Amino acid sequence: MSATTTVAGSGRPGAWRRLARNHLALLGLVIVATICLIALLAPLLPLHPPNATNLAGRLQPPFSPGHWLGTDHLGRDILSRIIWGARVSIAVGVVATAIAAICGTLIGIIAGFYGRWLDNTLMRGVDMLMAFPYMLLALAIVAVLGPGLMNALFAIAIVNIPFFARSVRGVTVGLVRREYIEAARLGGFSDLRILFSEILPNVMPVIIITISTTIGWMILETAGLSFLGLGAQPPQADLGSMLGEGRNLIVTAPHVATIPGLVILVLVIGINLLGDGLRDVLDPRLKSGAMARPGAATEVQVKPSTAASISADRILQVSDLKTYFQIGPRTYKAVDGVSFSLKPGEALGIVGESGSGKSVTAQSILGLVPTPPGRIVGGQVIYRGEDILQVSQERLRQIRGHKIAYVFQDPLTTLNPLFRVGEQIAEAIRQHQPVSHQEAYAKAIERLDQVQIPDARGRARAYPHELSGGMRQRVVIAMALANNPEIIIADEPTTALDVTVQAQILGLLDDLRRDHGVALLFITHDFGVVSEVCDRVLVMYAGRAVETGSVHEVFTTPKHPYTRRLMACVPQLGHPDKDIDAIPGLPPAVDDLPSGCAFAERCDQVLPACRQGVISLDTLAAGRAVRCIRAREELT
Ligand code: ADP
Ligand code: MG
Repeated sequence: MSATTTVAGSGRPGAWRRLARNHLALLGLVIVATICLIALLAPLLPLHPPNATNLAGRLQPPFSPGHWLGTDHLGRDILSRIIWGARVSIAVGVVATAIAAICGTLIGIIAGFYGRWLDNTLMRGVDMLMAFPYMLLALAIVAVLGPGLMNALFAIAIVNIPFFARSVRGVTVGLVRREYIEAARLGGFSDLRILFSEILPNVMPVIIITISTTIGWMILETAGLSFLGLGAQPPQADLGSMLGEGRNLIVTAPHVATIPGLVILVLVIGINLLGDGLRDVLDPRLKSGAMARPGAATEVQVKPSTAASISADRILQVSDLKTYFQIGPRTYKAVDGVSFSLKPGEALGIVGESGSGKSVTAQSILGLVPTPPGRIVGGQVIYRGEDILQVSQERLRQIRGHKIAYVFQDPLTTLNPLFRVGEQIAEAIRQHQPVSHQEAYAKAIERLDQVQIPDARGRARAYPHELSGGMRQRVVIAMALANNPEIIIADEPTTALDVTVQAQILGLLDDLRRDHGVALLFITHDFGVVSEVCDRVLVMYAGRAVETGSVHEVFTTPKHPYTRRLMACVPQLGHPDKDIDAIPGLPPAVDDLPSGCAFAERCDQVLPACRQGVISLDTLAAGRAVRCIRAREELT
């Protein structure tokens, strides 16, 4: 047990604190630590010899002089036997767990890594082990090997191997296709090195979680075998054999059986409480917050304000939106006071380098930012006179995918691989409209047709993997169109596509917007793309807007140095000699922004004043604003 506690404490700061916050786990830790400490100190404690019999003092009740917990049917001191017995039980449990963990991990990792026939052979062997009822198998193994503590230990270890092998194999299979493992392979690393330096550390949490959940069982099982007389042999004490010996005296001297029974109960409860706590601490998914009670919507910590006004010609108005990520002690201000609005049928582009907060801005609108760690801490998102940051979950569900649709960057992750694309669109339609399946399917085909998929009826029967990237993105757009949305938010919808397909998809979005009056919030890192589809543009840097305006104005007279640098990164057709100027340096981390202009470090026109105070977003004209001192100077 001590091994698992050290792992929790070392390496990852904060693990201890998370464990300590879990009161039940802390209780488990105290119980287990106390019992283990007493058992470890047994040789030093002033105890009677555990096997010394004294027939004259048989079956003394608890609290007898000299025998706190009384004596058993041979007059042996129960306190001493309990402590020595616990020592044996815990040792057997820990050693059996270690054996099962090592063997199971080896089997799982090898099966998962090499796959094919090796995987089949090993895992079918493991399946065979699992096919037998668990305790029966242990009994059979002891029957073959003969009774005795060591044999009980092996039996318990063997029946527990499958639990480790299965969970480790599952994780390994997921890991071998990951890019960093491929990269290690390409780097010429040997299989052994990849297994131990790349895969093992990644499966470690799973192994520890499995240990923490099985060790309690193993101690119980050892006790069970001893109880049946197949484990510890007389006169050796272990918790199970003591329970078994006391069984006949349950009426005349109940304490002989109840005391070891209670110790087993408390020990196993303690281990399981601690194990649960450890699992919460160690599971990386729980740590990142992905599985910590996943909310259906981002948590909003903004007081509802009554001033939900919106000009008549706008359908969406985002004001002063702030979305922060709290990771440990650091606050990442991913979006820090962004405002914009959309008219029906208008296309607004949000541009900026990777990490500037574009996606978080878009996701905040529909409450798609995961909480924790993300939280919306300020602002309003007014859609048709309603602040959708403040609406109920139910209302938000009605709006999502219905009135406001979302197109993600990677169509493969948006589509469910197990269903035909036509069915998926039909399902999306039925989610929001009371139509029969048949009608919905017919509409789905209509939508596929609308996004210019040739032979829509045939393609509707395809699975996502049977379509090319461009086709898949069309399907996703068809799905977004499914319920006649008023707004489509497209987050880098063409980044994963090649240039010709990209042009087609952009053309498609543009047509849809003009034909159906759908407003488009278009997110991209590519200024070239903006010029093709957008009417207006918002340039973001480090979570803030640095320039806004119509595409024409921003393109002809960019005011912010960052905008100019971004535009310089766009290659121009027919101008092969144009210098492509990469912006030097990297965007700053948004948890610790310097005062003044966030771009100052990378700006080639920086002034001393740029690094002082707050640089405001100054309005130059209606719908035109810039956050730069130099632009302000030009004004005056
Ligand atoms: P982009 O402009 O490339 O779309 P994002 O909006 O995805 O950038 O991210 C902006 C910043 O928000 C990131 O640099 C990161 O600091 C933070 N962030 C985004 N998503 C998460 C998350 N799930 N957990 C923690 N921080 C995040
Ligand atoms: Mg993004």
